[in-house]
Amino acid sequence: MAYVISDACISCGACEGTCPAGAISEGDGQYVIDADTCLDCGACADGCPTGAISQE
Ligand code: SF4
Ligand code: SF4
Repeated sequence: MAYVISDACISCGACEGTCPAGAISEGDGQYVIDADTCLDCGACADGCPTGAISQE
């Protein structure tokens, strides 16, 4: 289980700095979470303005 970013992402970048594991990076057209690095802490989901982040 890991958190995932849907296509509702508008690439605002707000989530990147909230991740304690550095699992979030800018991908092609939207931000992405590396499932192997994600700690499932949920910190990123709270700050997303479009609700694009949810648990897989
Ligand atoms: Fe995308 Fe939400 Fe992250 Fe902004 S906070 S880059 S909208 S996933
Ligand atoms: Fe990073 Fe936590 Fe979000 Fe996983 S759930 S991407 S560890 S902030």
